[in-house]
Amino acid sequence: MSRVGRIFPELIRCLFSPPATVDFPKSEVPVPPDYRGKPVLIQEKCTGCGLCARDCPAAAIEMVEVGAKRPKPAFDYARCAFCAQCAESCRSDAIEITAEHHLAAYDKEGLRWVPRYEGTKEKPAES
Ligand code: SF4
Ligand code: SF4
Repeated sequence: MSRVGRIFPELIRCLFSPPATVDFPKSEVPVPPDYRGKPVLIQEKCTGCGLCARDCPAAAIEMVEVGAKRPKPAFDYARCAFCAQCAESCRSDAIEITAEHHLAAYDKEGLRWVPRYEGTKEKPAES
């Protein structure tokens, strides 16, 4: 078969196939169910033990004084490798690995998340 003869059926197939790419950012990029995206803190569950910060291989977690009885983890998503080790290390199930992966910001500070607490109570403030 000639080269044109081989290309022509492929051309017809591509013309009538749906696009292979996603119209991002208008459309969501599908991710698998077990996708490891942005880790988020469930503040009510956190005991402030610091295991997540100790085990983070990217040094993306810093324990900070935020008015709660014990220091709480702050996340630097500019450093985060989305490895999920923090969630694995947390014995209180206080870190959830989400599917979120759109983490654009104008500067590094925009990728830093610090928990907020009311006074010395363990009740987190609205973020
Ligand atoms: S997902 Fe990995 S790199 Fe990111 S904060 Fe957790 S342990 Fe650190
Ligand atoms: S390991 Fe869990 S409970 Fe301990 S500080 Fe981190 S998020 Fe909080």
